[in-house]
Amino acid sequence: MLCEMCGKDVEGLNRVEIEGSVLSLCAECSRFGKIVVPAPVPPSERRAPSLPAGTIDARLGQRTQRMTERDLFRELPEMELAEDWSKRVRLAREKLAWSPEDLAKKLNEKKSVVLKIEAGSFRPPDGQIRKIEQMLKIRLRASPSDAT
Ligand SMILES: [Zn+2]
Repeated sequence: MLCEMCGKDVEGLNRVEIEGSVLSLCAECSRFGKIVVPAPVPPSERRAPSLPAGTIDARLGQRTQRMTERDLFRELPEMELAEDWSKRVRLAREKLAWSPEDLAKKLNEKKSVVLKIEAGSFRPPDGQIRKIEQMLKIRLRASPSDAT
C-alpha cells in the first residue's frame, strides 16, 4: 500500500484527516494530521474466525528468524574446497561400491550432476557439499590439516 503523502510502500496505512480530507498515510506522515478511528465493525462481521493475536505474532517471528538464517547463509563466502575435492568424491563413492546413480539417488540429483561433480566441472552449493561429506563420510573442505 502506498502512502498518499510520501508515496512510501508500507504494510499498514492509517486513515488520517488533514485539512478536511481523509488520506491513507504511513506512520511517519500520520503525524501531520489526526488519525481517524475506523468505523466500528458491524456485529455480524465480528464473529469471523480469526487467529489469536499471539499466534500471528509467533508466526511472524518464526518467519523473520528463518529469513535471517537464510540471509546469513547466503552472505557467507563459499567454503573453500580441497584441490582434489572431486577426486575425493569419486574415490569415496567407489570405496562404498556405489554407482554414480546410487550417489545421485541419495543426493536427490541426476546422475549427470554426480558425474559433473566427480569430473570437477560442477561445484555444488555448500549445502550439498555438506550432504556429500556426510553421505560418503569424507571431507571435501580445504583445511590446514589437509595440507601436504
Ligand atoms: Zn508517508
